[in-house]
Amino acid sequence: MATDNGGDSIRIAVASGKGGTGKTLIATNLAAMTDGSLLVDLDVEEPNCHIFTNATSESEEPAHRPVPKVDDDLCTLCGRCAEVCEFHAIVVLPKRVMVFDELCHGCGACTMLCPDGAIEEKDHLMGAVIRAKGGILNLLYGRLKVGEVSAPSLIRRVKKALPPDTVTIIDCPPGTACTAVESIRGSDICVLVTEPTPFGLHDLKLALNVTRKLNIPTMVFVNKEGLPGPDIRKFCESVDMPIAGTLPLDRRIAEIYSKGGLISSLPEYAGVFSELRDRILKEVSR
Ligand code: SF4
Ligand code: SF4
Repeated sequence: MATDNGGDSIRIAVASGKGGTGKTLIATNLAAMTDGSLLVDLDVEEPNCHIFTNATSESEEPAHRPVPKVDDDLCTLCGRCAEVCEFHAIVVLPKRVMVFDELCHGCGACTMLCPDGAIEEKDHLMGAVIRAKGGILNLLYGRLKVGEVSAPSLIRRVKKALPPDTVTIIDCPPGTACTAVESIRGSDICVLVTEPTPFGLHDLKLALNVTRKLNIPTMVFVNKEGLPGPDIRKFCESVDMPIAGTLPLDRRIAEIYSKGGLISSLPEYAGVFSELRDRILKEVSR
């Protein structure tokens, strides 16, 4: 099945406009129903797929990004580097230049634009890329070092480690900030998980704007259907957005999920995830 990601790779982003909609629940159970898939947790600031799947770490690789290193002998204190840094990670003081490694996004602009060639790059440890196994699930995830702010750099690093010819199911960070955008970018399809509450609908609209701007085919999954609230189905119909699956409000789901169990192992819910998988694979193979 050829896709934009080459070979037989398929990237399925599972995202949501807000936290707490059940995105990780959907991603883990979809992965469990998709043979040979890899579950990728790109919520690098707070990865939790490994917790909900009781996964144990198999390998941990340090992840670095390049940050500037100023040669005081060459620097003329011209101030150009501080002007171009959008992240205020480099400051020119009266007698020297200071770099705040944790704030630097490693964009390379200051190095490129320093008129005196006074900036080199050095590696800065930003976190780790971890491979783990939880029951039947293979996991890959990033964990940002405490104090680091450049989550998108680590997300890009984890994406570079995605194996070829594999179905990857990506649990994206919630919201519509740059971390969510970076996680969804390049996917073959995105499943937006929502719930029928006013906030759920509001944030679904924001997330839909993101996937449309990124030109990624999108489906909606409604969790906790039956809650009294806005009619998500009506909204989806109005914007021509397919609903790929639903789960009811069911206390057992929360109980199983909180213990690291898979609800797709329950006969009444297995079909929800096999149908979701089949709809996604059909859509990406068009
Ligand atoms: S741009 Fe280069 S020369 Fe100018 S202040 Fe920065 S490091 Fe120094
Ligand atoms: S590499 Fe980019 S983010 Fe880092 S200090 Fe230079 S301009 Fe700022």
